[in-house]
Amino acid sequence: MGKVVAVANQKGGVGKTTTAVNLASGVAAQGKKVLLVDLDPQGNTTSAYGIAKRGVEISVYQLLTGEKTAQEAIVHTQYRVDLIPSNIQLSGAGIELVSFPRREARLREALTPVIGQYDFIFIDCPPSLDLLTLNGLCACDTVLVPIQCEFFALEGLSELMSTIRTVKKMYNPYIDIEGVLLTMYDGRLNLTLQVVQEVKKFFGNKVYKTTIPRNVRLSEAPSFGAPINYYDGGSKGAEAYAFLAAEFVKNNRREG
Ligand code: ADP
Ligand code: MG
Repeated sequence: MGKVVAVANQKGGVGKTTTAVNLASGVAAQGKKVLLVDLDPQGNTTSAYGIAKRGVEISVYQLLTGEKTAQEAIVHTQYRVDLIPSNIQLSGAGIELVSFPRREARLREALTPVIGQYDFIFIDCPPSLDLLTLNGLCACDTVLVPIQCEFFALEGLSELMSTIRTVKKMYNPYIDIEGVLLTMYDGRLNLTLQVVQEVKKFFGNKVYKTTIPRNVRLSEAPSFGAPINYYDGGSKGAEAYAFLAAEFVKNNRREG
């Protein structure tokens, strides 16, 4: 059975999408079968894999409403990673789903038939703690939390942790933290080092040894529709995500 990992943090701009896109590609490059689910109506993960959002006919939206199956929604990208795309249509789902039965478990139920086809399934969550993110948390085995090394890095994390505790109590008893990733890391800055200390105090050994530096190639890659290891395999960003992929796979070998 594949392991489902939600990439979540309700703060925007902390590197969730960049991490989902490039960790998925890095893990696939290690020979694993990977599915990436774009659960953000902005569809940035979808376009980062070279798929035009406007052309998407079957998205996560139709999975959540039950109109289509996961198998029907899966797109084979040109980068070894399979993708369930998203687009702006998904933005209405949060409200529409409220009246659905088992509204928090729609994604989990939709993904169940395809989980066996993959080693890892990554879900890129939107920057919120709404019903979409709740679907991501209920569908996952573990949560990977990117944290940007900046002022107020830990702000909002207690809400995320308390949401995860609620999900654990009410819907998904086995949910756990996969790892905490420090992004936009700059070891020359005192601020970065302070954030690292705080985050380590809070999350202990869940913090990845790998950190992701600020690297302009990482921010350029999405507009070329390619993950970093294809866009510029020699960049610092590509190197960091390759390290992260190796650490991620190693952690999961030890557990499994
Ligand atoms: P989120 O999904 O959490 O909102 P994104 O991954 O979309 O965050 O990142 C926000 C912005 O920062 C994007 O423009 C992205 O290209 C850029 N970015 C993310 N990580 C890095 C990094 N390590 N170095 C440089 N730019 C980055
Ligand atoms: Mg995002």
